[in-house]
Amino acid sequence: MKLDRILPFARILLEKAVRPGDITIDGTMGNGFDTVFLAGLTGADGHVYSFDIQKEAIEATAAKLNAENLQKRCTLIHAGHEHLSKYIRKEHSGKVTGAIFNLGYLPGGDKSIITQAETTISAIEQLFELLAPEGIIILVIYHGHPGGSAERDALMDYVENFPQQKAHILRYGFINQANNPPFIVAIEKR
Ligand code: SAM
Repeated sequence: MKLDRILPFARILLEKAVRPGDITIDGTMGNGFDTVFLAGLTGADGHVYSFDIQKEAIEATAAKLNAENLQKRCTLIHAGHEHLSKYIRKEHSGKVTGAIFNLGYLPGGDKSIITQAETTISAIEQLFELLAPEGIIILVIYHGHPGGSAERDALMDYVENFPQQKAHILRYGFINQANNPPFIVAIEKR
């Protein structure tokens, strides 16, 4: 298949936005795949701030970073992303170039612990203030699990009504696949 799948496409967008030395954010660290990817983009002079509410996610991500000797490039924060501005220093304001929120539940973990629209939107609002012009926030929206469609609907309502003069926002996803395939929303600050 020549078309980019969802997660590779998210990474292509982040690669366009993030340069070595930049600040990036993983809003939902989970098993750490996105944090490791961001640490590769920001390099030794940049930094990744990653959030999760589950201890299992912090442990899994720390283990992956240690295995690749990337731990110095990342701060793992055991707190909800809705507290983002408490943890990201003011001097980073306007300097974050890339962020990803891979929504839903922790694969291999407790499927009842899921991201929620209200807290996700609160995090996006705080993050948008820290974002550099042409910085990109990726939302990977899974909506097949219980609670997923409510988060999807609230997020789509939020992004579809986001002021056009502040951001370019696109949606990318396969539209003829079975089982509620995930899709991406990318927000680029103008
Ligand atoms: N990015 C991850 C990876 O690379 O493996 C996958 C993330 S997983 C789909 C979603 C994660 O969001 C779960 O680990 C869950 O604990 C976390 N989560 C749920 N609510 C959260 C919140 N309010 N703030 C931060 N993380 C949250």
